[in-house]
Amino acid sequence: MAAWRAVARVLRSPVDAVSCAIFPSRCRLCNQYLLHLSAAPVCASCWHKLLPQPKSNLCGLCGEQLGWGDLRFPVRSTVESGSVSLCELCERAKPPFQQAVAYGVYEHTLRALIHLLKYEQVRTVARRMGALLAEAAAGLENLPSSLVVAAVPLHATRERERGFNQTVLLAGHALRELRRLRPDLQLHAALRALGRRRETESQARLTPHQRRKNLRGAFYVASPEQISGRAVLLLDDIYTTGATARECTRTLLQAGAARVFIATLARSQREGVAFWGSSAAANLAVANSAIV
Ligand SMILES: [Zn+2]
Ligand SMILES: [Zn+2]
Repeated sequence: MAAWRAVARVLRSPVDAVSCAIFPSRCRLCNQYLLHLSAAPVCASCWHKLLPQPKSNLCGLCGEQLGWGDLRFPVRSTVESGSVSLCELCERAKPPFQQAVAYGVYEHTLRALIHLLKYEQVRTVARRMGALLAEAAAGLENLPSSLVVAAVPLHATRERERGFNQTVLLAGHALRELRRLRPDLQLHAALRALGRRRETESQARLTPHQRRKNLRGAFYVASPEQISGRAVLLLDDIYTTGATARECTRTLLQAGAARVFIATLARSQREGVAFWGSSAAANLAVANSAIV
């Protein structure tokens, strides 16, 4: 087997060279020619740019970057609560989930990669993205030894339009990798345990308050027996304001889930959502207190 691998390695390089010369294709992110045969049309250099966000200085509950502040926005105070630092919003109103973690910041190459999967339907990037999502999930603290793994759902119409559900695809790959990374955990796949009752308008241009209203009642638990009394790990591609994570958590807890943990591939940090300003942040705090 090892010998075959060595032979394959030696052969691959000329095969790559010939194939790439005959069928030149470019990286879908940076447009450079691909030098190696690969199922995913992304070059090694772009994959290497996907670094995890530094773990220090993040809110221990929602993963928000702490200590944000410059002349345009107020400095966000950090408050020690037990051994974790919380952001101001979590300090004022704790989210209903145990903890939310993300692999990287939703910007640059990671953002482009998510768009490649989500809007350009390049499914071949999902496996490696799933591995990064698993890396984030493996870092969740105080995980119980047994977890049900679910994905944030798309509405059936949206899934039909897109031809696939990128979150379920991503979560499936993440689950396989997480089993490898954390053999100590018993992971039960229930990727479609949550359903989406109705299509919600695009969240992109909504304030946090509008997002919460937009999402209220949008989700349901398709199979309560799968999650009743269980700890749930909920996976998604992006955490923006946390409105989706909160609403899904609320739905899962109402259906009997014991606890909910959130892991996403990417997370918007304050720079990305700063246009809402501090009054919107205050609205979010009020919204949270209504949910919690
Ligand atoms: Zn590239
Ligand atoms: Zn927080």
